[in-house]
Amino acid sequence: MNENEARAIAKLREKFGEVKPSSNGWVRIACPTCLPKDRKKFKRYVRPDTLYNKCFICEMPMQRDELVGESFIQVSNPANITIDEPKKVHPMARTLPGSRFIPVNQLPPEHLAVKFLHKDYLFELDKYFNDYGIVFCPCDAGVTFNSRPFISSAERLIFPVRFRGEMVGWQMRSIPGTIYGDRPDVVKYYHLFNKGSVLFNYDNAKKYQTVVLVEGVKKALKLPNAVACFGKDVTETQVQLLSEWPNIIVCLDSQDVAQAIGERIMNSLRAYGRRAINVNLGPYGFPSPDEMTSDQLSFVLFNEWRSIYGTDSLRSES
Ligand SMILES: [Zn+2]
Repeated sequence: MNENEARAIAKLREKFGEVKPSSNGWVRIACPTCLPKDRKKFKRYVRPDTLYNKCFICEMPMQRDELVGESFIQVSNPANITIDEPKKVHPMARTLPGSRFIPVNQLPPEHLAVKFLHKDYLFELDKYFNDYGIVFCPCDAGVTFNSRPFISSAERLIFPVRFRGEMVGWQMRSIPGTIYGDRPDVVKYYHLFNKGSVLFNYDNAKKYQTVVLVEGVKKALKLPNAVACFGKDVTETQVQLLSEWPNIIVCLDSQDVAQAIGERIMNSLRAYGRRAINVNLGPYGFPSPDEMTSDQLSFVLFNEWRSIYGTDSLRSES
């Protein structure tokens, strides 16, 4: 068994409990998408090398991210993942990475980072700098964090993470079309802080009675009261933070696994006595908030809220 396979198995064990060996290199886990009574039959077979997997009971497809988390990195397939650093505070976690930054609203309209935001219907650049502090690190001003895969802050958008008046970390996003952003080994998102203990945009969203939980930082820019949990691995600490709001709208991506997580968060929050709904954008034709304008997203969320709680619960909203 090589290092990748051993790490994949360790990650599966961490997420799903026992991992049973099977023939020809397959392993079996208690299938998370099976009904509880079937789960203990361990009928989801996984290949630790490729993470190809199949459940012989529910047959529900699961992506590799859903199995091992976005933070899992395979040396042979490093694209499209986040690297999660150990829990100790990295010396660079609280300092913006780079020697020079351009506020996002000072980039020219044809800049690749601006086009990248526009593609996801993100047009309010003044607000993204003034309210969120988002900047771009030019190609000659980057800091290198890792050599294999190569990770630098050059040519990236940097999203500072502020929590209770302090900058506790940052997340940076590569930009397609740039030299660094198009490297075959590019790691799209990178951060060094403990993302599970905070929510992106917490301080701004605290001004509202209703909070909207989305997965990623870009998605959170769509609404002033949206916070992001930095992926699908929502922690108990983050659920506790959400319970500080009286009204909570959970709006993760529309895939089945994200929706199952969303339902679980909603139920925990209701158990804390909060008003909470889980919104699936799938039936509206959207895989995630990325594909929606701010207006479309607010319209859907308002409708969904109204269908469960009516409009009285929102009266105190500013
Ligand atoms: Zn299953």
